[in-house]
Amino acid sequence: MVVTRIAPSPTGDPHVGTAYQALFNYVFAKQNGGKFIVRIEDTDRTRYNPTSQQRILEMLEWIGLPPDESPTKGGPNGPYIQSERLPIYQRHAQMLLDSGAAYRAFDTPEELAAMREEARKAGRQEQGYNRRYRDYPKEESDRRAAAGEPFVIRLKVPLEGKTIVHDLLRGPVEFDNAQLDDKVILKADGYPTYHLAAMVDDHLMGVTHVIRAEEWLTSTPFHVLLLRAFGWEEPVWCHTPLLRNPDKSKLSKRKSDTSVDSYKAQGFLPEALLNYLGMMAWSMPDGREIFSVQDMIQHFRLEDIRLGAPVFDLEKLKWLNGKY
Ligand code: GLU
Repeated sequence: MVVTRIAPSPTGDPHVGTAYQALFNYVFAKQNGGKFIVRIEDTDRTRYNPTSQQRILEMLEWIGLPPDESPTKGGPNGPYIQSERLPIYQRHAQMLLDSGAAYRAFDTPEELAAMREEARKAGRQEQGYNRRYRDYPKEESDRRAAAGEPFVIRLKVPLEGKTIVHDLLRGPVEFDNAQLDDKVILKADGYPTYHLAAMVDDHLMGVTHVIRAEEWLTSTPFHVLLLRAFGWEEPVWCHTPLLRNPDKSKLSKRKSDTSVDSYKAQGFLPEALLNYLGMMAWSMPDGREIFSVQDMIQHFRLEDIRLGAPVFDLEKLKWLNGKY
């Protein structure tokens, strides 16, 4: 069964980018008789906003893209709030430690800062981790962990070769493994990083198609390696074009109004907003500009998403809103 998801981080006002991702994930799931899941990615506690989660879910209801499984509806494996699933991620990080695919790193914040400073001074572009603990003796690592020394867990990325991401819209995209970092998957406080939590959840939730913003494409080779380390299958990857400010920079609240709650307060209709978001990256086969989610479910093809730099313009949305 086709399973899609959006995985918003509850960091502020419900962002129009979340509605945009939700639209394509929803439509694709529905036209395949599949399931559309919402997962709240709240493991970055520094950016956590306590009211955001509820507002994101209410926004999805208002706009007419209700998830089949969500923190409010539950589901066979729900509710999906990552901060409530920490033991799951810890168990999975341990599995990779046990298999030798990951390792503990005991660097202190000061040591890491010194390492970065050294790399900067040496003029090295890439300032990733120096892999100091990659080949550290296991007994020594176990002993220090048992003695209560803080550590993070990092994935062992191959030092050579390439990792190829097969993106549905772009075809094969090659990444040099030498450019990838042994990124942290479990932090010293026992919280997973986004990378581990997202891939463990996508696997456990049976996600078949990861349809997400193209800003994540550069993280995808690491995700592919993480999935391989577990021996899991990859989903279909589909990275959609980012919504842009009129100056073509990534749509941000600094330059534009990005809050769906604000559009709602201004009287925009959800149908018009969805229509506009659909037009950002896709066109009806007959060229019609006015179309509904039902029309999309009937005619949409994932591979027809247009790559480009769609500008989200409230003036255009106003014009479209006037047609409803
Ligand atoms: N939590 C990420 C975000 O806020 C999700 C990225 C993904 O879809 O994997 O965009």
